[in-house]
Amino acid sequence: GFLTRYAAAFGRSEALMRRLSGLLGGEVAAEGAWIVDTAGRRWLDFGSFGLHLLGHRHPAVTAAATKQLDLMGLSGKVLGNDAATRCAEALIDATPANLDRAVLANTGAEAVDMAVKMVLLATGRDEFLAFRRSYHGKTMGALSLSDAAGGGDRFGLRNPVHFLEPDDIGPVRELLATGRIAGVFIEPIQGEGGIRPVAREFLEQLRQVCTTTGTPLVLDEIQTGLGRCGRRWRSADDCRPDLLLVGKTLGGGLLPVSAVVFSSATIGATATDPVVLASSFAGGALAATVGETVVDLVCDEHLLDRVRDLGLTARTRLADGLAANPRVREVRGEGLMIGVELDDPALAGNVVIEAARRDLLISFCLSRPNVIRIYPPVVIDRAELIDGLDAFVGAVNAASL
Ligand code: PMP
Repeated sequence: GFLTRYAAAFGRSEALMRRLSGLLGGEVAAEGAWIVDTAGRRWLDFGSFGLHLLGHRHPAVTAAATKQLDLMGLSGKVLGNDAATRCAEALIDATPANLDRAVLANTGAEAVDMAVKMVLLATGRDEFLAFRRSYHGKTMGALSLSDAAGGGDRFGLRNPVHFLEPDDIGPVRELLATGRIAGVFIEPIQGEGGIRPVAREFLEQLRQVCTTTGTPLVLDEIQTGLGRCGRRWRSADDCRPDLLLVGKTLGGGLLPVSAVVFSSATIGATATDPVVLASSFAGGALAATVGETVVDLVCDEHLLDRVRDLGLTARTRLADGLAANPRVREVRGEGLMIGVELDDPALAGNVVIEAARRDLLISFCLSRPNVIRIYPPVVIDRAELIDGLDAFVGAVNAASL
């Protein structure tokens, strides 16, 4: 069943996955950094694919959603709605000045697909550039751009997608000079590909080549954006993309909410025709209220300070605690986007189990299963963070024996 396929897909033994799900039993309640399982056991949550920067049921998010529910829920689809307008404005205000329009969607992958359609229509070109180890989601368009999921080969758009290394501008320059590339899709730190940062200098060079060849640059900050890396955006302010993709944190850990924020100078009106972009759920009032609330929360300098501060504490504590362990290759990351690279995926599987024994939930990167991600929420108590990190260090050391 599911476990067999999951285990096969991630190179895990089914027995190991079964043990983990046996430990967990399923979640029934959650608040802040904690979740409660069916047996009433409390777990510290460092996992969750990067959805819970604000923790579970953040009071401001819950309050805004509840207030909106008193007025309407999934509504305002025909006349439009005030909440969707405010959410779009909040996103435009929070992004570089060249980004002057925003459209809302539901999942991250859906935002990626919207961007695919927009750049195809805007440029009239039909090939794409994405990067080795990239991950953009699992709809057909997003999967086609995801080297990390092996998607381009197995499924895929009919449009050719080129995958190049995100550290060598020469081949990128050559490819874009052909004038055939409709859009370049890049994550500033590859998340599912193993918490691998792209150098700021490469992003600057990429911006330049995109400008000189008239190629739209699409920056996927679905995982890195909205405070996760200790800044509003990991790279949007520096490399000024033509389209910026936002998701995950935007839903406040409550709902799927995503967006494409873009430059109307690059993406003209015909490329944003609702006939091509609109869908049943996107831009509903409840989701938009949550999105607007999240943008306000994560633009707060105190919150961003806290992400940087807790992130530094965490990386230092992990690096110190794991320094003597020869099976740990590296502790890296920015803000509260932290990766611990081990020398072997099987060890990472055992670390997840050992951590679970210590009431700590962690996960590994989708396509680099030897990299464990540590994604604590910013709302966590410092003492609880330290306890969780120490539990993790204990888990790694126990599993390495
Ligand atoms: N882009 C990036 C960089 C992601 O990390 C993810 C999710 N891991 C996605 C896109 C897809 O988002 P979703 O799962 O909401 O479709």
